Amino acid sequence: MIAITSAAAMTMAQDGPSIFTCQIGEAEVSLLSEGQQGADVSILLGATPEMLAQYAPDSAVPNAVNAFLIRLPGQTILVDAGFGRRMEDNLRQLGVRPEDVDVVLLTHMHGEHILGMMQKEGERNAFPRATVYLSKDEHDYWTSDEEMNRQPADRRGGFWNARRVITSYAHQLFLFHPKKIGESAAPLLPGIYGLAAYGHTPGHTMYLLESGGERLLIWGDLTHAMAVQMPHPEVAVVYDANPEEAVRARQATLAYVAEQGIPIAGMHIAWPGIGKVFRHGNGYFFAPPPDTAGIIGAISRQMQRYPESRLTDIYKNFFQDYFGPEHLIKDTTSVDRYLQQELALCGECTGEWAEATGGEGRFYRVDLCVLKENRVDYRTFLYAFIESAHRTVAPPPEAWVDTWNEIIRILDAMPLSIPDYAADKAALQAVLQSGHYAVHHSKAYEQRYEPHYRIISKAILERLMMLH
Ligand SMILES: [Zn+2]
Repeated sequence: MIAITSAAAMTMAQDGPSIFTCQIGEAEVSLLSEGQQGADVSILLGATPEMLAQYAPDSAVPNAVNAFLIRLPGQTILVDAGFGRRMEDNLRQLGVRPEDVDVVLLTHMHGEHILGMMQKEGERNAFPRATVYLSKDEHDYWTSDEEMNRQPADRRGGFWNARRVITSYAHQLFLFHPKKIGESAAPLLPGIYGLAAYGHTPGHTMYLLESGGERLLIWGDLTHAMAVQMPHPEVAVVYDANPEEAVRARQATLAYVAEQGIPIAGMHIAWPGIGKVFRHGNGYFFAPPPDTAGIIGAISRQMQRYPESRLTDIYKNFFQDYFGPEHLIKDTTSVDRYLQQELALCGECTGEWAEATGGEGRFYRVDLCVLKENRVDYRTFLYAFIESAHRTVAPPPEAWVDTWNEIIRILDAMPLSIPDYAADKAALQAVLQSGHYAVHHSKAYEQRYEPHYRIISKAILERLMMLH
């Protein structure tokens, strides 16, 4: 099966930022985005209605078209060439000219990975100096007449695209046999390993970068629908040439990177296209890198509004953004009773009655004063809270520990003077090590602000506000 994945199932949305750079040892790795979009769930094979209801309630999953640039001292390496719509522009923003690219590593030969290999006008090579690495099996598939003739006539265009690149780059092409993941092997280039993840296409290859003791696996098209394929790696997509083999490659790769703690990057992972994989139940959880600016903004807002905050209160704010309502809802009656009891203690609204949690604002703290003042119907509020708790899929605690460590790193560098900071930091570390994660507000915070709120998910709150 071949496809330019932007066909009917996807709509392109452009305009957002298109480059995201991170440091892996000595290497600067940049995501070059050619579009962020939703992919329709009709591309999925083997997803049950229950999975879709939970992980793709809008019948679409976040998706993107990415390539990556690796800049090592003395070497500029491109991993896939995208559609080519924004490739030159993206490279120019990084001060890289096409002729500066020394190496192109191709994961496979679907259109949105190789069309950028050719210049827009004419047939000239977009990267005149680059050595192009391609797995032998991938090369052999696309150049086989037998394979091409097996496809219906309207699916043969991809073969011509692939052959045009192979022919045009004939003198720059380096064919190789990728190794199995976890197998020790000589690098393809200093610090770069080619690893087989066959199935999506017959020679689909991932590239592992190793630099200064750090690693990054650029896994190409190992996934197309992270929202569904992380909790359920057994779900394939219609673009997979061999869905069963693709599932096996995904399972093996996910197990390896989760165990080894290797960050990953992918060609169809939504912005910023890079992150870490954690085991989670029977599946996996993907955590993009923490958004530093968002974290700084959230801390600053909190300290401005609640200057008496201790570290514990900052922790709680981010914790709630991550886990949502911490409550285990056993029965509606007791939730109702606790809410009534707390409502009796609560006063009139003074400031904003709904505040976004943490750096991402996935949830809101909704002050119970809205009930006191009858701004929101009591039953509606109660069920909004219960639904928020039920619908929240708690992420794995290991990923939270990672996130909290990053928040602490940021806090340490901020010019704040929070009383008891060092002692609270150690106490929170001990809480995390004990495997418990929830904490109460500090005494100082409770006395000064008398917090009475419930955590409601952003989506549910938006609906609630539309009703009133
Ligand atoms: Zn693709």
